[in-house]
Amino acid sequence: MTINHQNLLQGCYEAELLPSDFSPERIVPDFAFNILNPSGLLYRPVVDEEYLQNGGQKPGWPDGKPFAVCLTHDVDAVSAYSLKQSLRSRSSQLLNAGSAFQKVKSLMGVGMDLASAGIHIQQKDPLHRYERWLKAEKECGAKSTFFFWPGLSAVTKRHHTDCTYELYDSVVFDNQKCTVTEMIREIDRQGWEIGLHPSWYSFDDADELKHQKGSLEKALGHEIVSIRQHYLHYDIRVTPAVHSAAGFKYDSTLGFNDNIGFRFGTCYPWHLYDLKAEEELPIMEIPLIIQDAAMLNPDKGMRLDEDTAFQYVKQIAEAVEKVGGVLTLLWHPNHIIKPDWWSVYLRSLEYFKEKNAWVGSVREVGERRKASFRNVG
Ligand SMILES: [Zn+2]
Repeated sequence: MTINHQNLLQGCYEAELLPSDFSPERIVPDFAFNILNPSGLLYRPVVDEEYLQNGGQKPGWPDGKPFAVCLTHDVDAVSAYSLKQSLRSRSSQLLNAGSAFQKVKSLMGVGMDLASAGIHIQQKDPLHRYERWLKAEKECGAKSTFFFWPGLSAVTKRHHTDCTYELYDSVVFDNQKCTVTEMIREIDRQGWEIGLHPSWYSFDDADELKHQKGSLEKALGHEIVSIRQHYLHYDIRVTPAVHSAAGFKYDSTLGFNDNIGFRFGTCYPWHLYDLKAEEELPIMEIPLIIQDAAMLNPDKGMRLDEDTAFQYVKQIAEAVEKVGGVLTLLWHPNHIIKPDWWSVYLRSLEYFKEKNAWVGSVREVGERRKASFRNVG
């Protein structure tokens, strides 16, 4: 079968191949539903390769660097031992519990949370090490994007997988006790980007997204331009237009939860397409290529060990380097407690430095690409 690259980038194949039971409740269809997967093309940016073969120019990166790396973090949890956050999660589970058994299970969980809080009350929270991400990235001369959730009270309809922290909750950043809002402001002040990580049900609702964006912007004190949907919960038929209507300039949702690779055959940022209105949108996609959980979660996805995961990072980075594109990585800050996950991140940063990559946040990559934009297809 010949794959038309223009149709691929516009999302036509993805829309056609949606599973028959696709609904707002369903986890998004992953790599096995992708048009490129049966042909074994997920690990090659085939659209970019063809574009260059036809005389296209590689995107330019600062100082003549051969390719770009975009570093991102979805902040799904801010504390490991917060009783308040655990109880909010339990109350959401109770609201969603269908059977009496599930309700009893949630109530038993409350007891476990209380016991756990008692045990950990004197201990330092292992997630309160956000400054380590900044330090590791600074050593590579890089900055990243932290996608924060807008706070539970900013979300109208809740899903049991949604985050549970509030922006007024306490954390420790760089040995200082502060609120999540204060930490967000400090990360921003140091030059890192803050983006929005909205709720599960926001993917088709521009008003809800505007509300959640407004909540995080109020905490931050200025505009937010980048977004990534929680759980990559996204519908190619509606979400691009909804993101655009809510005022976002850059999205970085379009990758996989259970695999790595090039979901749209490209690692060049491109303008998303509104399939209903049949028009190009102002919002630009900086596609997600490698997610930590897809590689390293022992229960789902690729289930890799540290060394094998790092080999995959190198293989994909080489494919990106060949076409001079952007390698976007997602590492969740709450996985810093897993030494192998953290180690793959540090080894990857070191490798990108050796490869002389230009490393930046979603906004920086988007702005750079806009300055020399040439649509591919
Ligand atoms: Zn998330």
